[in-house]
Amino acid sequence: MRISEIGEFGLINRISKDTITNPKNILLGIGDDCAAYSTSSDKIVLATCDMLVENVHFTLSTCSPRQLGRKSMAVNISDVAAMGGIPRNALLSLGAPSDTSVEFIDQLADGIKDEAKLFEVNVIGGDTVRSPLGLVINITLIGEVEPDLIIKRSTARPGDLIMVTGELGGSAAGLILLLEGEKYSSIPLNIVKEVKLAHLSPVPRIKEGRIIARGKLATSMIDISDGLASDLTRICEASNVGAKVYASEVPIFPAAKEVGSLIKKNPLALALYGGEDYELLFSASPEKADDIIKLFKKELGTKVSIIGEIRDKQEGIKVEDLQGKVVDLQPKGYNHFRKRGK
Ligand code: ADP
Ligand code: MG
Repeated sequence: MRISEIGEFGLINRISKDTITNPKNILLGIGDDCAAYSTSSDKIVLATCDMLVENVHFTLSTCSPRQLGRKSMAVNISDVAAMGGIPRNALLSLGAPSDTSVEFIDQLADGIKDEAKLFEVNVIGGDTVRSPLGLVINITLIGEVEPDLIIKRSTARPGDLIMVTGELGGSAAGLILLLEGEKYSSIPLNIVKEVKLAHLSPVPRIKEGRIIARGKLATSMIDISDGLASDLTRICEASNVGAKVYASEVPIFPAAKEVGSLIKKNPLALALYGGEDYELLFSASPEKADDIIKLFKKELGTKVSIIGEIRDKQEGIKVEDLQGKVVDLQPKGYNHFRKRGK
């Protein structure tokens, strides 16, 4: 069945099932002119949205509708994690060609709701329109954070260490194999699967963000969506500081290392410039680094690495490569108004 046959209201009816996972504070979810919920007066509201456009941010040939749904919610949740906050309520706007199948939208919505459920996020409304030029998904996510715990990009200080959760480069390696996999048929299947999953199913670091926020462990934070180099540059520009990264300390996703050597792409470049790893990149005063590493190990089992330090602005943003040569860290990565890698 095509969505044109069930119409806008039929579609909204299907989407609206199982959307409230945390009913506390919700007066109205989907179904009225506005959603309505009460907020706690002692918290700051965090608001973010991310728009995904077919053939710009995703292609339907490389992911299932369920994966696409999950990822579109996950990238928003990751933005809330980067502020040290808790995600709460989401609005889902969809543009879809009228010949889209109802089953496709059901699966897409299921993916969105699956991810929402994992983080106790409610889907409380949205908009549905016809889009002649392909699928568009826009999710607006509202979260909250204690006023004294919010972590901004603009507050890194010279002398702070630069730290990152998890491992980088998996998503970039996965994207290459999703787009040109047929060229590289000799790569072991388990490796292929692992990097593709890193690209298609990122895990937002909410727990990690909350631990960092509650312990006031970071001086600035961002999630890695465009690549370590680009996102570190954003912190440096916002904070008016420089930075030095040690390439040898950058944690590279093991399967991305294997893919890199098999397809002759430098794994370090995948980690520095690849993007979409959705790990947390943050600065912390050196006295807190040991606590952070221990706390992460004890409470979460999540790896966290020290990869460099914040410097004075005059020192620029540098990376010491594996040969010990210090060069500018170019903020290349994904930017919608430039070509990839330029
Ligand atoms: P209005 O015309 O008053 O803006 P709509 O008829 O567009 O309202 O929507 C009816 C209800 O369905 C509203 O609660 C709206 O937020 C919700 N809704 C519409 N599209 C979506 C969607 N894609 N996902 C979730 N909720 C939606
Ligand atoms: Mg109305």
